[in-house]
Amino acid sequence: MNATALADLSADELTALLEEQRAAYEQLKSRGLKLDLTRGKPSAQQLDLADELLRLPTTTKDSAGVDVRNYGGLEGLEELREMFAELLWVEPEQVVAGGNSSLTMMRDCLVWLVLFGGVDSERPWGQEEKVRFVCPVPGYDRHFTLLESLGIEMVTVPMREDGPDVDAVAALVADDPTFKGMWVVPTYANPSGSIVSQDVAARLAAMPTAAPDFKIFWDNAYALHHLTEEEAKSADILTLASAAGHPHRPLMFASTSKITFAGAGVAFLAASTDNVAWYLGHLGNGSIGPDKVNHLRHVEFFGSPQGVRDHMVKHREIIAPKFAEVDRVLTERLGGRGVATWNTPAGGYFVNLDVVPGTASRVVALAKEAGIALTPAGSSFPHKQDPDDTNIRLAPTMPPLAEVTEAMEAVATCVLLAAAEKATA
Ligand code: PMP
Repeated sequence: MNATALADLSADELTALLEEQRAAYEQLKSRGLKLDLTRGKPSAQQLDLADELLRLPTTTKDSAGVDVRNYGGLEGLEELREMFAELLWVEPEQVVAGGNSSLTMMRDCLVWLVLFGGVDSERPWGQEEKVRFVCPVPGYDRHFTLLESLGIEMVTVPMREDGPDVDAVAALVADDPTFKGMWVVPTYANPSGSIVSQDVAARLAAMPTAAPDFKIFWDNAYALHHLTEEEAKSADILTLASAAGHPHRPLMFASTSKITFAGAGVAFLAASTDNVAWYLGHLGNGSIGPDKVNHLRHVEFFGSPQGVRDHMVKHREIIAPKFAEVDRVLTERLGGRGVATWNTPAGGYFVNLDVVPGTASRVVALAKEAGIALTPAGSSFPHKQDPDDTNIRLAPTMPPLAEVTEAMEAVATCVLLAAAEKATA
């Protein structure tokens, strides 16, 4: 393996490398591959882990004797709320168990803030001249498209290893009341793998904001999705915000989408009890109650909070080798070349690959032509625009391990070819 950085190669050596990579790429194309590293979906093997759910629940009554088949119980089944309150480090009365999608809960909160305002709003957000959100980047594409769909402007700040650049956030929101909120994926962020430190969380909870109704959308989608035996504990944002005198600032979200079934799990909202009442008040105009049969099924399946943690170990055993494989191939093929950096996440569903600036779209296009679907370049940025055209999000959970290997070998070839093209252009 020649591991000389491209920057240290002579013009002739670079041309030779370009020819070599072109040949490798032609050979790759001729194989007619059809591989997909786009979306962070669980594999069939992971979904199989929860198949017992298809035979549950064994009873139709909850512990209070209420028939779960009937209407009612808007806040969700008590036992399930208690179970996930413990897992999310909040109190049961702060938790709502809803339908299968936490993204829908986030959408509902945003829409109601725009239409009606929050518990601490002077007026509906929709009556403000301008509403803006702070968006740590790279971030989750659907967060950004959701804001875009509602006409909420996005201002980016860098995402660091310990969470959003809190100095940058604090500077934006301190004097400008158009900033009404921000996204935070606190644990194993999509796609950077970052974990918000206690210190950053405390500062976000306490920072002065010009808007009295500033909201932190604390999307803890990967709270329990550890890839190593060391299990990161998310910062307790509700307590921190409450202690700092901003109890209504955070809205926390989570779900079992990547714990049980991505399409038939349970989503959770956690917030101050006033926020919970606000949420249920609006929800009640459009729902007589959630799918409590599914709630009970989940309670029976897990048995206890520890049951959820034990279940996540089984996921880890399936997907950790895939993440290790991504790192192995990238290290072997690109290590020392100076053409890419990537993270080795301790949890979550993504690997964040940064290639030579200006080549990410080219890499994705090359991969596509060779039959490997990658998330479009720029997806992790508002309006799908990565100013440096450098970021690529890899999602290795869905394909079988052998396909991850094959896809990553192909990605490495595309990264090298695009870098060699640029260096010789
Ligand atoms: N938030 C983040 C950060 C995610 O990565 C995802 C799934 N890709 C979701 C939310 C979606 O969650 P749900 O399935 O509960 O709607």
